[in-house]
Amino acid sequence: MNYTSTRDNSLSVSASFAIANGISAEGGLFVPEEIPQVDAAFIAGLAPLGYAERARKILPLFLTDYTAEELFAYTEAAYGSQFEGPAPAPVKNLHDNVNMLELWHGPTCAFKDMALQLLPHLLTGAAKRVLGGKESVILVATSGDTGKAALEGFKDVNGTRILVFFPDQGVSPMQKLQMTTQEGENVGVCAIEGNFDDAQNGVKAIFTDAAVKAKLAENNMCFSSANSINWGRLVPQIVYYFSAYADLLAAGQIENGDKINFCVPTGNFGNILAGWYAKQMGLPVNKLICASNENDVLTEFLTTGRYNRCRTFHTTVSPSMDILISSNLERLIFHLLGNNSDETNRLFAALKENGEYTVSPALLQEIKATFAAGCCNDDATKAAIADTYKKYGYLCDTHTGVAVRVYEAYRAAGDDTATVVVSTASPYKFSKAVLGAVTDGKFTAENEFDMVSELEAITGLPAPAPLKGLKGKTPRFTGVCAKAQMEAEVYKLLRIGE
Ligand SMILES: *Cc1c(COP(=O)(O)O)cnc(C)c1O
Repeated sequence: MNYTSTRDNSLSVSASFAIANGISAEGGLFVPEEIPQVDAAFIAGLAPLGYAERARKILPLFLTDYTAEELFAYTEAAYGSQFEGPAPAPVKNLHDNVNMLELWHGPTCAFKDMALQLLPHLLTGAAKRVLGGKESVILVATSGDTGKAALEGFKDVNGTRILVFFPDQGVSPMQKLQMTTQEGENVGVCAIEGNFDDAQNGVKAIFTDAAVKAKLAENNMCFSSANSINWGRLVPQIVYYFSAYADLLAAGQIENGDKINFCVPTGNFGNILAGWYAKQMGLPVNKLICASNENDVLTEFLTTGRYNRCRTFHTTVSPSMDILISSNLERLIFHLLGNNSDETNRLFAALKENGEYTVSPALLQEIKATFAAGCCNDDATKAAIADTYKKYGYLCDTHTGVAVRVYEAYRAAGDDTATVVVSTASPYKFSKAVLGAVTDGKFTAENEFDMVSELEAITGLPAPAPLKGLKGKTPRFTGVCAKAQMEAEVYKLLRIGE
């Protein structure tokens, strides 16, 4: 199976090439030329398996140039004891036929671990085949959770270096501490003045700059990407949609073939797009419900067909979803246009030049057949966290709170199909907002770790060990740079001359 580019569909490259390069040379995203198909027997066969075994059924369908031995070793290494508890991606029943898929039991307590524990293995395997021994330099722009998850995944992995840029005012104190205290010999971290889109645009510009590339090549290095534009980030995420379905089958909550909904708290559109690929492969999915915070650009797009990034950027209590340009949407549009890169180019040129594009009514109809969408503000998010805790004793983080709220409104409008709400972070990553929600603002703790303790005392739910372990650690990386200085910062962190 080969991959093509959303901006040039005459390309045809291997999975290794797509993963090692991250983004296509002309700026497009790599996508599978065809989507592999599975049947009901395949899905039934997943039910008795563990998570790594489920991954070994699904990944080879896309990663056809990796050997079975490679994928065995990679999945064993990725989905092992670094996940706390009995399973990497457990499904918990909330009430009736509504379930939570918890994707935050990994080392950084957010769903990015599901992909970023595997990606370094996929990347080093690919680099051997297609990069001829060059060192891979991973540049990451993060809205909070990706950065730490990538740092943990890549730290001290031979043949790789990793540099992370995060918006100085755009991440939670816990997220910031997680990144600035990162250990490892091959890591660098820098805050930038600006928001996530500034960081992402800055990284994209460096990534595609020929002069920068030449400079790296002189030093036997080349760029790759751990952002969710890398196919190696998306493909591991497809697994947990199947895994959740298999768990509901095993629990007897559904019959094989029954359609279910997924509600996904969304920012860059990577998580929910993996759900779309799962549906295209044959997973019985009714609706994919896209939940946004006050940055509601996707809600508007999925309901009206108009994507308009010219709007106020809101800093919210769910910072990993504070995004106005959802990069992975380009993949969906390319596929729905019948793999038409000319038309994709036209739409995304319009986005770049005018800040907006509108898809045809026919395309909108197709989108609406699969996607529902909704959004809510911070007050509604906090109310959802408080209500869910009071009614069901279930504590969710702020991102998951958005999804719960949007799902409730969706269900109230009439669809009570069995549903999986995707839970993307530990509530302890966003203790202040969560504590504020469950105490109605009446808490005494003033610093981050006291808030963790107070939330533990109130709920009886233990905080994850990797978060508690940060207490008292001194930051290693304290730099803040302007967007224009990012390139210089890259050379500095790589210790190569300008
Ligand atoms: C990254 C992230 C999201 C958004 O996921 P996308 O793939 O960017 O849509 C939601 N919640 C949390 C906690 C995240 O870290």
